[in-house]
Amino acid sequence: MYNPKSTKAEEFIDNEEVLATLEYAQKNKDNLSLVDEILQKAKLGKGLTHREASVLLACEDEAKNQEIFSLAKKIKQEYYGNRIVLFAPLYLSNYCINGCVYCPYHAKNKHIPRKKMTQEEIKKEVIALQDMGHKRLAIETGEDPINNPIEYILESLKTIYSIHHKNGAIRRANVNIAATTVENYRKLKEAGIGTYILFQETYNKESYEKLHPTGPKHNYAYHTEAMDRAMQGGIDDVGLGVLFGLESYKYEFAALLMHAQHLEAVYGVGPHTISVPRIKHADDINPDEFDNGIDDDTFAKIVACIRISVPYTGMIISTRESEACRKRVLELGISQISGGSKTSVGGYANQNDAQENPEDTAQFDVSDRRTLDEVIKWLIELGYVPSFCTACYREGRVGDRFMAICKQQQIHKFCHPNAIMTLMEYLQDYAQDDTKAVGYKLIEKELNSIQDEKIRTLTKEYLEKIKQGERDFRF
Ligand code: SAM
Repeated sequence: MYNPKSTKAEEFIDNEEVLATLEYAQKNKDNLSLVDEILQKAKLGKGLTHREASVLLACEDEAKNQEIFSLAKKIKQEYYGNRIVLFAPLYLSNYCINGCVYCPYHAKNKHIPRKKMTQEEIKKEVIALQDMGHKRLAIETGEDPINNPIEYILESLKTIYSIHHKNGAIRRANVNIAATTVENYRKLKEAGIGTYILFQETYNKESYEKLHPTGPKHNYAYHTEAMDRAMQGGIDDVGLGVLFGLESYKYEFAALLMHAQHLEAVYGVGPHTISVPRIKHADDINPDEFDNGIDDDTFAKIVACIRISVPYTGMIISTRESEACRKRVLELGISQISGGSKTSVGGYANQNDAQENPEDTAQFDVSDRRTLDEVIKWLIELGYVPSFCTACYREGRVGDRFMAICKQQQIHKFCHPNAIMTLMEYLQDYAQDDTKAVGYKLIEKELNSIQDEKIRTLTKEYLEKIKQGERDFRF
């Protein structure tokens, strides 16, 4: 039976409730007065239930869909302004004992080179990432208790945080590793991780078990209840996601929102982020063999519907998507993107080393292959403020405290000046001349738009200090 307050996967993601939701949405997709009612509620900016949101997702009326897109843009603008946070994935090891049929790291893949970085190699990767300008990472590994035990992850985090190359620093390391125990989540928290990210892949238990035929990840309940254990272990910020293409997107969408509601109901705080990866070609993986692929229009609609359903939850898009697709969904709700990414183990430091050929270990092909600097310039030219800000987490504005500030629409006060200051650091330390030219102009304009005089004056002061070589100012 559906019970969002239960901590049992089969109750908070009750299959019957998902199916009833899909039926309700299908029945009401042309019920324009209901769609209107839901849109009115969504306009209050307090979110929607999975049933309401599913009706909007199913609605095919063109005019109503335009309203959905306009509202998503409005909410995006109101809650996130024009800031886009940048990050990069860092793959530590591709050893894996699971059998995920969509991932080339699956244990039966005997021809992919297996690689686990030493601390010395991690240091080189982090220096390469710092030299690009990155301040925020997402740490990735396959699941392998012998090769990638928690101690290895913890030691690697220590290494990552300890490196300060020139003016560089990794100020926030998010972690995307397999579901683990409360005790291990506690250790990750103590190691100072930002968000714990785990993609559900699919919420449909039957499909999940087929797609994960072997290894510890086969256990649907253990995987689905991971965020509960993470929160019980003291982790404040968790990131959800599904791998679109594996199952029917309508099923995933409803269940993803049920998962978010469950976290809010039990722990008083919903997910910090939602990621929207789509399955990509990779070594021995052909995405066309999966029946549920979604086109760009459907993808855009999903992003817009998530945006208006959970306005306080950040949304992440990776370089799996092309420049054109990223441009489209940025305005509909995405608040964080990766740039200059490598999905191979050791891919940053060895970029030009043909002998090492690190792409052999890649998890999937990236579509957006631009450098971080190209992405930054592109964002600025599109009217966004690229942000390397990590202040909330370092100032203790996490979990329910972060959400409370968001809900009072106060987060902008901190984020806007912090974005400007971290962009200034980037321009000073890493940008090409043409990026600098557009960047300085943008900073001038953004600085003048800060309403609060005290904050504006202080930001101006800090910007001068950054130009003199001082770093790491934040509100
Ligand atoms: N191994 C960890 C786990 O068990 O959850 C997570 C790390 S994995 C490196 C990160 C994510 O990449 C997976 O959760 C999956 O959704 C995604 N992924 C795997 N294969 C993919 C593919 N062929 N295309 C796109 N994304 C893929």
